[in-house]
Amino acid sequence: MGLAPAFARTLDSLLDWIFPPKCGGCGRVGHHLCPQCLAQIAYIGTDPRAAFSANAWSATALRGVRSVAWFEEPLRTAIHNFKYNGQRVLAGPLASLLVHDWERLHHPVDAVIGVPLHPRRQKERGYNQSHLLATEFSRATGIPAANKALRRVRPTLPQVTLTAAERWQNVQGAFQGEPSALAGKSVLLIDDVCTTGATLEACARAALDAGARAVWAMTLCRPRLPDGDRR
Ligand SMILES: [Zn+2]
Repeated sequence: MGLAPAFARTLDSLLDWIFPPKCGGCGRVGHHLCPQCLAQIAYIGTDPRAAFSANAWSATALRGVRSVAWFEEPLRTAIHNFKYNGQRVLAGPLASLLVHDWERLHHPVDAVIGVPLHPRRQKERGYNQSHLLATEFSRATGIPAANKALRRVRPTLPQVTLTAAERWQNVQGAFQGEPSALAGKSVLLIDDVCTTGATLEACARAALDAGARAVWAMTLCRPRLPDGDRR
């Protein structure tokens, strides 16, 4: 487990004072995610009909997925820094993008859950970026976070290294839900990127098998046009 959130925030503030923040998108000093980068994000849109629309894949367990933006700069770099360069401080500003989008949807759920990493991967990285997003999202919306309700029960290969068909195979049966936390609940999964939807679908399947009533998902971004190969 990482540092307690309150302590981590105090530490972050102290570190901001000693080392002024650099933007996770462009590197400018002054903000963790600067106003210029926020303005350049390729937001998917404000059409409420796009909310939780079914995507290009044939999801069955997931009721729908909503992504805030296209997977393009400067968000791509910010997410890379958040996941791979230890910039966990980006959890707050990135979660704000999710919260802002969510607040327009008026879509009630009982719990929010970040997509789990396998314990070994989480140990290597030191944190789970999706759990951090879900925790910040919970803090801002008041929807309880239930990050322990789903577990990754077997290690999987990184999805980015695989073809579309392999991605579905790779994550099938990789997750397990905790019935005491999920039974009868409507839940929102949170992840950083959705490409094929295979990981979210496998999580949704596990949540339903553990008794969840309905599963939705929200991600920061997705690639602009899933081509035939990605499905
Ligand atoms: Zn910036």
